Amino acid sequence: MSFVFPRHSKASYPVAVGGEGPYLFDSAGKRYIDASGGAAVSCLGHGHPAVIQAIKDQVDKIAYAHSAFFTTEASEALAEYLIERAPGDLARVYFVSGGSEANETALKLARQFHLENGEPDRYHFIARQQSYHGNTLGALSVGGNAARRAPYQPLLSPASHIEPCYAYRHQAHDESEEAYGRRVADSLEAEILRVGPEKVAAFIAEPVVGATLGAVPAVSGYFKRIREICDQYGVLLILDEVMCGMGRTGSLYACEQDGIAPDILTCAKGLGGGYQPIGAVLCSGRIYDTIAQGSGAFEHGFTYIGHATACAAALAVQQTIEAENLLDNVQRQGAALREALEARFGNHHHVGDIRGRGLFIGLELVADRTTKEPFDPALKVNALIKKQAMAEGMVCYPAGGTVDGRRGDHVLLAPSFIVQRPHLDEIVDKLGRAVDSVLAEVGSAA
Ligand code: PMP
Repeated sequence: MSFVFPRHSKASYPVAVGGEGPYLFDSAGKRYIDASGGAAVSCLGHGHPAVIQAIKDQVDKIAYAHSAFFTTEASEALAEYLIERAPGDLARVYFVSGGSEANETALKLARQFHLENGEPDRYHFIARQQSYHGNTLGALSVGGNAARRAPYQPLLSPASHIEPCYAYRHQAHDESEEAYGRRVADSLEAEILRVGPEKVAAFIAEPVVGATLGAVPAVSGYFKRIREICDQYGVLLILDEVMCGMGRTGSLYACEQDGIAPDILTCAKGLGGGYQPIGAVLCSGRIYDTIAQGSGAFEHGFTYIGHATACAAALAVQQTIEAENLLDNVQRQGAALREALEARFGNHHHVGDIRGRGLFIGLELVADRTTKEPFDPALKVNALIKKQAMAEGMVCYPAGGTVDGRRGDHVLLAPSFIVQRPHLDEIVDKLGRAVDSVLAEVGSAA
């Protein structure tokens, strides 16, 4: 008998009772290798003593103090850490409790900036299809994840969606990567002109699209062109690094690898590594100063802004990653994982594409590798793989709707930054067995 409202009423979930490094343990004593950190969260693995100690130390001092009355050493220190390493002129940090709150905050911040900057007509947001920005209504309105939006369509505020940068499916055979990147980036300009440049508040995008597309980075040059277009039309650029940020792709901020900086950047998941719920919104000095020298108050706020224990945990996570040079390990093990996946699946008839950056890797599954035809969604290939991987003793993050929100399947891998070669071998081996056994089952059913 359970009183918890679960994710799915027909699923039964094992009880997680422990974790150590890249492994999780359930109450039956079964061990799982955590190949996706849940949903790209547990970047330091489980049970890290330095983070546990930092949480204990903070709770001993002050667990929480409301940000309308106090600031805390923990939130000040974490903000300084993030800004010292941030790209461009990101200058201030607004702490929240997760990714949806971060994006909700980013949208409202963009809106209030324009109001205080004397452009009250700028309230329209442009985003991309096949993206995900969170489940709160504002974040869901800009998100392009068709399945998650569908039940709430009447409640969503208007936003427009341009095509994603998704080379595997949309780059033409006779088109260079640069030409493709330019073509899709230019669709932002077309949309701004269609809506009316004086009405557009911001463009929001994930530098590497996570849950919805399965670790798809933009092609080179795409985000440089996006940055140019935003600047030309006075449109703010919001980069959602909730999943791909905080070292996941091998650099602290994912956009460093695209050679651009946003006006607003959101992060969460890997910021606290799951040790505490925390998200953050970084904004440029220009945005902060406009509000600071205008009304002085961002008309927003949550009870747990800058939660001291969450900030202390996140700072310990980030300091550990830096002290142990774990971003080097992300790059090294990321390349090794890609190689091992290529060796295992490179010629697999049903693996169409292996892509990603650092330890953020996606495999797109197809019914036919030559035509890229996806599986019939009714077969629920991604759900079967998730289940089979759990049975094999592995947590990975498969999802569906990759192609158009309805069709397509992928598996997302996002292991912790501490993984070593034997962990990668275990991941590839278990994934191989899960994929092969599901495809054998589906093949015989089809
Ligand atoms: N943005 C992105 C890119 C995400 O991947 C997610 C979570 N999957 C969110 C926003 C929402 O974050 P949360 O679930 O912490 O609210």
